[in-house]
Amino acid sequence: MQSCDHADNVDLLIEARWIIPVEPAGSVLEHHAIAVREGRIVDLLPCDEARLRYRPRTLRTLDKHVLIPGLVNLHTHAAMNLLRGYADDRALMRWLKEHIWPAEMKHVRHDFVRDGTLLACAEMLRGGITTFSDMYFFPDAAAEAALEAGMRAALGMVILDFPSAWASDADQYISKGLAVRDRFKHEPLLHFTLAPHAPYTVSDASFERVATLAEQLDLSVHIHVHETLDEIAQSLSERGLRPLERLLRQGLVSPRLIAVHSVHLDTDDIALLAREGASVAHCPTSNMKLASGVSPTTRLLAAGVNLGLGTDGAASNNRLDMFQEMRHAGLLAKISTGDASALPASELLRMSTLGGARALGIDHLTGSIAVGKYADLCAISLDQAETLPCYSPVSHLVYAAGREHVTDVWVAGIARVEQGIMLHLHNNDLKARARLWQNRMAL
Ligand SMILES: [Zn+2]
Repeated sequence: MQSCDHADNVDLLIEARWIIPVEPAGSVLEHHAIAVREGRIVDLLPCDEARLRYRPRTLRTLDKHVLIPGLVNLHTHAAMNLLRGYADDRALMRWLKEHIWPAEMKHVRHDFVRDGTLLACAEMLRGGITTFSDMYFFPDAAAEAALEAGMRAALGMVILDFPSAWASDADQYISKGLAVRDRFKHEPLLHFTLAPHAPYTVSDASFERVATLAEQLDLSVHIHVHETLDEIAQSLSERGLRPLERLLRQGLVSPRLIAVHSVHLDTDDIALLAREGASVAHCPTSNMKLASGVSPTTRLLAAGVNLGLGTDGAASNNRLDMFQEMRHAGLLAKISTGDASALPASELLRMSTLGGARALGIDHLTGSIAVGKYADLCAISLDQAETLPCYSPVSHLVYAAGREHVTDVWVAGIARVEQGIMLHLHNNDLKARARLWQNRMAL
């Protein structure tokens, strides 16, 4: 390879046919390269200049690919990969009360969460996801799995007012969650959120503690809210307040809030989220599958609310596939507004990368391809019959390509998937663990 004598050493140089950095909006670079040193992006420049300027330890040439920031899955319950297909085709409360919660009471322990989260990490990494925002019991087990997979994760310290194998009451959920954060807080890939499950499972007293801790420890608050009409009706009849009004009174509607689902929002709810600078985690596939409704995403964006996309857990989706979420979010926005220009492809890509990172307060670290950020990257081959010809790589990413076209994934500059092969997780071991759990669940 040609290089000057005074070329700079870098760990990795990735040359790509197209690079979509997400910032600045609308930019599509052709024949550019990304230089990476110590996990961070140090340069983004045309390929011919890069070859003169840098002497890379590893060179990767992706001449038929588009390179994008690693996808950010803003809402999931990763361990529920072990409950995929366990109960389907039921409304949310019946599905939870009759199927999911009893199965969780019986089976969810540390090893369940560790194995389930590892399976989810494998699925997500191979699908181009480099960061996930999780909410589940035993967040210590999820942390171990994320570290083993080498993924960036925002682990929710889950809080409920009913017992589980993880904790017996809200105080214990909080104290155990904080202990997990203390144990892992020096891990550069791991972040933590407070994760009160939902308004219908968390008391006012617990919300008060969450608000205090969020302020003291500068943590995001990750909560399901306004998911169904029943949730809102129940809150109005029991408390005379919509759930979001209740959270506002508790001091929880702020830039730290990640309002998951936010399906049923009136004009005042949207104005409130916008005024307080909250983010929404839009989960279109889960909302369709549970027949929860259609989130007013175009009105949220028009009001200035930050949106990210999430898959929700594999029990209610049933894929942890951000390509599918992008497509579903776009199609739902168009059909529900009667406007084919609603949520264009570039906006969907921004939501699934930078929007998610911003919601988590980690957009200075990841979410776009910019000098100084970590090299969290995903390469997609557009050299297939179904993706040729290619007039617009952004269009193909959302409307034509899928996770099966992801070839390479890096997290903080470390290759985790190379030419479609996972480098650090072993497929046969993961499959054996999944079969073991299938047998246990059948008992
Ligand atoms: Zn959820």
